[in-house]
Formats: sequence, structure tokens, C-alpha cells
Amino acid sequence: MKDGIRVTVWNEGVHEKRDAPVKAIYPKGMGAQIAQYLEKQPGIASVHVSELDHPQQGLTDETLNNTDVMTWWGHTAHDQVTDENVERIHRRVLDGMGIVVLHSGHMSKIFRKLMGTGCMLKWREIGERERIWVVDPAHPITEGIPEYIELEHTEMYGEHFDIPQPDRLVFISWYQGGEVFRSGCCWHRSKGKVFYFSPGHETLPIYYNEHVLRVICNGIKWAAPSGLKEVIRGNRKPLEDVKAR
Ligand code: ZN
Repeated sequence: MKDGIRVTVWNEGVHEKRDAPVKAIYPKGMGAQIAQYLEKQPGIASVHVSELDHPQQGLTDETLNNTDVMTWWGHTAHDQVTDENVERIHRRVLDGMGIVVLHSGHMSKIFRKLMGTGCMLKWREIGERERIWVVDPAHPITEGIPEYIELEHTEMYGEHFDIPQPDRLVFISWYQGGEVFRSGCCWHRSKGKVFYFSPGHETLPIYYNEHVLRVICNGIKWAAPSGLKEVIRGNRKPLEDVKAR
């Protein structure tokens, strides 16, 4: 196997099987479209696509234990993801697994649990223009990205977005209809890193946009495990001979 990051693309996979317009854009599913891009990128060792209707919702121990970074796309079936599986993903994130949450994944159980807030936002589906502006040009997630990414037709996601203040805000989106949105946000949660990136409405071919795919790939690289292998907590003996007073 190649050296690098082991990615699991978790894709709900309901719209693509049920709704003709979505199937027409993503005949093999959104997850497969994202995966075929990631597989070709340097630094990515492997890409596994998991869907809701796979055994154990695509979240077996084997999958979780062999994932460095998981991407998450869900929309219509958030409630079907079992609380037990959410708990298992949450534990893995706190233990260092990165997670990149995409688009309507903002209302997924795992994202809301990681954030601790409601995570709701404004939305509108009229296919207006969006400009995704880089606001942290030193951030590694912006590598190879222009000053802004323009999407001719998008779903509007607007403020207020009910999230805790991001540790790093990387992108802010502008919409033709007038709203703005914190569209690229980073958080640390214990040893794990969380990146939220908002583009990706299922009836629009947004995951064919090279810049959007590049941001997802950069987000995976940023969220990959790094830092201390082992974190020690709890009661400890002193490192030096400390005289009791
Ligand atoms: Zn959407």
C-alpha cells in the first residue's frame, strides 16, 4: 500500500438511488465522485467509500480503525445513523481521527455532537451564484486555491450558522441574493481535527469542480492525525524529588 493518509468517504447514498436528477449527476454516487479524485492525489494512501446501506452503516470496527480521516456527506437520513455509531465515530475523532464534514452534513448527529450547538443555518435553493473567499491565505487548506472560488449555481447557506466560533475561519461565502456564510471552518476536538466545508448540494454538479475537490483534499491533509502519539492524563508521580512542605 502507498504511504499516506487512509481516507473513508462516508456518503449517505440515498438521493442518488432515489432521485432521478441526482442520479443523473452522480450515477455512481457522490462518494464515488469524490473518491475517484482523492485516489489520484499525492499523500493519499487509500480511499474507501462507505454508505448508509452497507453492513453496520459502513462503520465497522475494521473501517474505523483503518481510517485516518473520514469525510461525511448526509442529508435526508441523518436520523438513521445509529447513536451507537455516532458515539464510536466521536471516540475515534477525540482519539485523533480527522473528520471533514460536507454541505448538509452540518445537521448530522456526529457534527452536532462535535460542535455542541444546534448547527442550523439559513438556506435557499434557487441556483444563485456563490463566491467562496479565502480569508486565511496562510492556512494549508488554501494551498493551490485562487483568491475566490466561483460557483455559478449553488444552494445558499447563510448566517446565522449556529456553530461555536471556529478555531480557524478559512473561507467566507458571498451569495448573489445578499447573504454571507462561514463556509470553511476548522476546530480542534481533543486530539482530533474537524473541518466543515459547505459546497455540495446534491442536485448541482459541485463535486466536479476542481477547486472544490482540491479544498476537500487539502482539508483531509490538514485533519490527518499529527502531534503526540500518546497523551497522558490522570494522577502522576512528580518528575523530581519534591519535598513535602
Ligand atoms: Zn443542499
